[in-house]
Parts: sequence; C-alpha cells; structure tokens
Amino acid sequence: MKERLLFLGPPGAGKGTQAALLSKKNHLLHLSTGDLLRIEVSAGTVLGKKAALIMDKGELVSDEIVLSIVQKNLSGQSQGWLLDGFPRNLVQAKALEPLLEEIMQPIQAVILIEANDEILVKRLLERGRADDNEKVIRNRLEIYRDKTAPLINYYSVKGLLKSVKGNDEVNIVAKRIQEALN
Ligand code: ADP
Repeated sequence: MKERLLFLGPPGAGKGTQAALLSKKNHLLHLSTGDLLRIEVSAGTVLGKKAALIMDKGELVSDEIVLSIVQKNLSGQSQGWLLDGFPRNLVQAKALEPLLEEIMQPIQAVILIEANDEILVKRLLERGRADDNEKVIRNRLEIYRDKTAPLINYYSVKGLLKSVKGNDEVNIVAKRIQEALN
C-alpha cells in the first residue's frame, strides 16, 4: 500500500471524506490545508483573520501562508501522510518538491477524485459551510479549473496519477481508492 499521497479534485468531490477514511484505516497523517486554515480562523489568529477574508470569497489563500502550514506539519513526520487540498496550483506543487526531498519522502501516488459540476454544486449546497453559497461555489469551481486542474497533467506526466470516479456512495468510492493504491 502506498502511503505518501496527494488527493486532488474539485471542491465537493469528496476529498475530505475519503481522506479521513483512508488515513484512519491506514494510520496516515491526514493534512487538510482547508481544515488547518479553518482552525486558524476560529482561533482568531492573525493568520486566520487574513485567511478568512480570502476563503469567504472562494479565492486561494497566499502560497506563502499555505506552504508554511504544510512545512510545519510535515517536518519530523515519520509515518505515512495524505495531503488533502494541497497543492492547489503549480507554484505550490513545485515548492513541495524540495520540501519532500529534504525529508527524503517522495510522493508515491496522486489520487484524483472526479465528479461532474451538477453533483459538486448540489453536495456543497447541502453541506452549507460558511463558504458554500452558490456564488462562492461557482468561483471555487472556476479557480479549480484554472489553477488546480493543470496539476492533473503535471502529476500524470510523472506517472503518479490515479483517477477515481467520485459520483457514487462513500463506501464505493473508498473501495476504488483502496484498490488504486494496492
Ligand atoms: P474545498 O475542498 O471544498 O475546496 P477546502 O476545505 O479544501 O474546501 O478549502 C477551503 C478554502 O481554503 C479554499 O477555498 C481556499 O480559500 C483555502 N485553501 C485551502 N487549501 C488551500 C491551498 N492549498 N492554497 C490556497 N488556499 C487554500
């Protein structure tokens, strides 16, 4: 089983749900930059206040902030890990590489969870998080297409990409992911 993983996919594809399940089952460290940012926001830190303004619009928080969060959490890590919601653009993907080289833990697989826009919007509206209103959702989907989707090709060329259909029940998708990693 591969145990140094990235989860890629549009908002609403189920990355967070699947990442939590997989990491629990396989004792991986689940690092969700979205969750870590929301912790800063609710703690009211300087970083959190800055991030909240950006997250509420569905824009991407600065690479600098996100990278420092990832670096802090990965350093000294000896068990496997699963990065969820990071990298979100090419700058972040390229910055991750020297960081992983330093700890000598290269990525073993990138899981892409796919679903069509209709399902994504429906799921996000049902979830109803602070940044889940229709206008912000549309913006996040556009930013995904624009900034994050190019990473599909980036990791595919490296031979790391595994695509999984995400428009079915949680357990079915979980099984597909497990199979892709065996
Ligand atoms: P979703 O998967 O639904 O997009 P996340 O919880 O991953 O939700 O992210 C919520 C918000 O947090 C994003 O819209 C963005 O503002 C911010 N964020 C999370 N990860 C990153 C990242 N790697 N780079 C920049 N911003 C991020």
